[in-house]
Amino acid sequence: MSKLAAFGGTAAVPRDRRHVPWPLITDEDRKAVLDALDGPRLVSDTDGANAVSRLEEAWACRFGHEHCVAVSNGTTALALALAALGVGPGDEVIVPALSFIATGLAPVHQMAVPVFADIDPVAFTLDPDDVERRITARTKAIIPVHLHGAPADMDRLTAIARRHGIAVVEDSAQAPGATHRGRPLGSIGDAGAFSLQVSKNIPTCGEGGLLVTQDAELAGAMRRGRQFGEVIEAGRDRDYISYGLGWNYKMSALQAAFTLAQLDRYDDYERARQENVTGFLARLAELPGLRVPAPLPDTTHAWHILRFRFDPAAFGLHGVRPEALRSTLRRLLRAEGVPMSQYQLMPLPDQKVFTDRIGFGSGYPWSVTGAPGTTANEGYPVTRAVIADSLTLQKRHLHPGAGALLGLYGDAFEKVWANRDMVATLAKAAS
Ligand SMILES: *Cc1c(COP(=O)(O)O)cnc(C)c1O
Repeated sequence: MSKLAAFGGTAAVPRDRRHVPWPLITDEDRKAVLDALDGPRLVSDTDGANAVSRLEEAWACRFGHEHCVAVSNGTTALALALAALGVGPGDEVIVPALSFIATGLAPVHQMAVPVFADIDPVAFTLDPDDVERRITARTKAIIPVHLHGAPADMDRLTAIARRHGIAVVEDSAQAPGATHRGRPLGSIGDAGAFSLQVSKNIPTCGEGGLLVTQDAELAGAMRRGRQFGEVIEAGRDRDYISYGLGWNYKMSALQAAFTLAQLDRYDDYERARQENVTGFLARLAELPGLRVPAPLPDTTHAWHILRFRFDPAAFGLHGVRPEALRSTLRRLLRAEGVPMSQYQLMPLPDQKVFTDRIGFGSGYPWSVTGAPGTTANEGYPVTRAVIADSLTLQKRHLHPGAGALLGLYGDAFEKVWANRDMVATLAKAAS
């Protein structure tokens, strides 16, 4: 049994092996951006092909969506999808209690109230039973988040939505390319939102987002909303007439060109990533008290983030708080060179923006619906348990050449688990 790095032993992951870049930027990406810079159109505000329209077509074609509309980022994509579906003041939108803050903010940007629902303890996505409990006469939409790259339970969620006449907007920011019963995420509900933010699986060189839908009319509403409410038609000059409420949510040609170049290599990257990650997880699955993420039956997983849950009882730690085991493992694994971190320090409903409900300066939009407020440290037991007893790995494993590094991470986990008595002693002291 080798000595833990936290106590002076040699780290399982040598320092010079720890840095892994993401995104992986190659000469193809550089050339694509420079070509776009020298191209005829930096902005997609008139009819005609440019990098933005080429990205929309390439994305729709590669993943099997009817329509794709490029926007400025994933957050505006979510808000614009809600807007195009007619979500507005007085409406409620159900979102998961565990997600990135943008999922909870997007309804507020649309002046609707986010209503949080708990998650499934294994998939970490919306619990359909809790969604059903929270539906009211004001519920206008559900935003299932395919968190960490794992498809939400779209069979049950779309059935609930259909029964109540509610729209479904898939937050697919973490799951490009993943499928649910063979269907591409994003096109199962009414609309799907993707983020191309630089840390995501298919990145741009900064900020970007995409909306997809199978509905031509909805795609038209998204396009109008993206550009001041204008209608841009093939073969017709821009007329600067606003046909309805719109914003400026357009994507730049440079951002689109970078993602187009990344998309060319996506299949190779994704194949390598699937192999690297599933091999790593199979190895870790052998360790007692460690629950590794797994795709649900008949789905594929994009592995954007790897979340591991720890079970104190399996460590012989009855009565020890899960937070104590989690922080002990975080400290020991980080000392070995594995950058374990928390993803979300609290459930979304605990975020100050949702407990204080100041909103647009006067308690709006919450003052309109009378939806029950959220209180920090209350409700959402599954979300709280998951945050208390789990840690995540982010970004390092996205690189297609990360297999060797994940091998070293596996060594580190096995080394820490071989010192389980020490883990138990430290966790008890911390509890
Ligand atoms: C990244 C992310 C977003 C927001 O995307 P941006 O492009 O950063 O605005 C929304 N939802 C989830 C789940 C995300 O991970």
